[in-house]
Amino acid sequence: MEIPLLDLKVQHDAIQHEVLAALAEVFESQVFIGGPKVLELERKIADLCGCRFAVGASSGTDALLNCMMSLDIGPGDEVITSPFSFFASAGAIARTGARPVFVDIDPRTFNMDPDKLGAAITRRTRAIMPVHLFGQVCDMDPILAVAGAHGLAVVEDSAQSISATYRGLRAGSMGTAGCFSFFPSKNLGGIGDGGMIVTNDEALFERLVTMRNHGAKPKYFHRFVGGNFRLDPVQAAVLLVKLQYLDSWSGKRRANALYYDERFRGSAVETPHVLPQCVSVFNQYVIRAHDRDRLREHLTHSRIGSEIYYPVPLHLQECFRPLGGRAGDLPHAEQACREVLALPVYPELTGEMRAYVADQVLLVAGKGEGVAYEGADRSRSAAAVH
Ligand SMILES: *Cc1c(COP(=O)(O)O)cnc(C)c1O
Repeated sequence: MEIPLLDLKVQHDAIQHEVLAALAEVFESQVFIGGPKVLELERKIADLCGCRFAVGASSGTDALLNCMMSLDIGPGDEVITSPFSFFASAGAIARTGARPVFVDIDPRTFNMDPDKLGAAITRRTRAIMPVHLFGQVCDMDPILAVAGAHGLAVVEDSAQSISATYRGLRAGSMGTAGCFSFFPSKNLGGIGDGGMIVTNDEALFERLVTMRNHGAKPKYFHRFVGGNFRLDPVQAAVLLVKLQYLDSWSGKRRANALYYDERFRGSAVETPHVLPQCVSVFNQYVIRAHDRDRLREHLTHSRIGSEIYYPVPLHLQECFRPLGGRAGDLPHAEQACREVLALPVYPELTGEMRAYVADQVLLVAGKGEGVAYEGADRSRSAAAVH
């Protein structure tokens, strides 16, 4: 048996007639920039999130960058984010000339620890960018409280968490703006790059729309320097087809996560912890293991795909060396980088496949002490569905 970390071909095989028909419509229309497909997807994503507005973007990265630029964040400003994320979160901040400021994670959830936010705020702080990692929303109430008390914008990096909830509210809908990615490996993936921003702020919405067209309003009259941050109708057409399946796919991911939780309970494998306020969409199912690298080698040998998200925390990335981050500064993020391993959790995984994955993980990492970190609790059931 061969089990990849993600298998997009099985997904495509199940929906290819609809996808190809949607693409044919785009070719028939010869509308390749903007148009009804993009507007329809924007409306549907806004509705899904319970937000008033949505603005398509050329990628999740550009969604974040557009938000930063539209909020007028730039040199001299600081934006607080997580050190344990895909690079784009901090990259979007740095590209405006602002300084990314990293606060350590809650080792149970891998998400930004709101208790550490207060100490990171200075008179230069302009915004907070929480990252809803692996499909789970951050503990938003305390983050929003700190932001409110200091008059800061909140831009939710929801690239991995479309349709996940926190106290019944959707990822991306609680802050000033929320950003999504349609990178093919995300829960709602396109056939190339794409992204989306949602917001309830009408003035910000207008600015986001203008910013994505080089700041032009009307055409050829440029109010400010923006970019080409547009989502194209080819992506929108495919995403509209796939959006119909998102709930069902998320449910299957959760069922797979629950299965692993049960298999790993009482073993040395540390399973993901989901806060009681959250329903995760498990973009990734990430365990911690003591001897992570040996486990990964065994899985590779057993033809099971796995991945290390992420091997290096952002404060220790070479390009951010000028910011002065040192090893030991953010110990929970650094420890996570040494221990995490993502296992296949995609919706089309069969019962036989996930059983084989669990068997092989337990064979190597099941016995012994397991990992120890603050708040580790070996008795809980992580992926409880609420
Ligand atoms: C994927 C991702 C992004 C960037 O999205 P792209 O569409 O690849 O540009 C940003 N943040 C996080 C956390 C992501 O996982």
